[in-house]
Amino acid sequence: MVTVLPQAAKLKRAALDLLFPKWCVGCDRERELICRSYRERLVRVRPPLCPQCGKPQSTGKLCSGCLNWQAAIDVIRSPFQFEGVIREAILQLKYRNLRALSETLAELLSDYLTAHPIPAEVLVPVPLHRKRLRERGYNQSSLLAQKLAKLASLPVVDNSLSRQRPALPQAQSKTVAERRNNVAGAFTCCDQRLKDRQILLIDDVATSGATLNACAVSLKAAGATSVWGLTLAREI
Ligand SMILES: [Zn+2]
Ligand SMILES: [Zn+2]
Repeated sequence: MVTVLPQAAKLKRAALDLLFPKWCVGCDRERELICRSYRERLVRVRPPLCPQCGKPQSTGKLCSGCLNWQAAIDVIRSPFQFEGVIREAILQLKYRNLRALSETLAELLSDYLTAHPIPAEVLVPVPLHRKRLRERGYNQSSLLAQKLAKLASLPVVDNSLSRQRPALPQAQSKTVAERRNNVAGAFTCCDQRLKDRQILLIDDVATSGATLNACAVSLKAAGATSVWGLTLAREI
């Protein structure tokens, strides 16, 4: 068995290389998942931003969506707009099983954290519902958090939050208020390790911030001192 296993592992890797070759998501030519030239073309979220949800806001003050929102999430930040190559990369990471992308995408998050420091002691990925996790086989936010944890030298606490019901498709919850209602109370947290800690929630995309906020509600109920959200991209 001992001699057979490495051989099997090699075969598995070769098969994966065939299925998921390492070509640039943008140009399909370079042997890098997002090549240098396409990294430079990614569409950034540019300030001034709403200080809470991180949406571009010409005044730099709270946006209309945040004015009347008793949010539990302290701040949400995202380096990129959800379009072009980042959108394509996230969709491939999520739905095309291109897990290798998590490393490249985590590098982008790490670069962002270096340039825009966030008070964080622990990384917590936004969980999938167990049904969705079974279908997909992995949680893309966990992959991002684990890779980022190594780059940023921060611990990651996975499985501390659990999702009580699966996310509804976006089409079924059109307005921000509807999304917030749909996801409210969707998460529970009973993990003593997060008490008195500054949490940085990690997710792939933020839309209304409702999911991050619902996570923050249960993290704060479990004693977290602050909860910031960092997503790779946000829908503007
Ligand atoms: Zn390229
Ligand atoms: Zn806002």
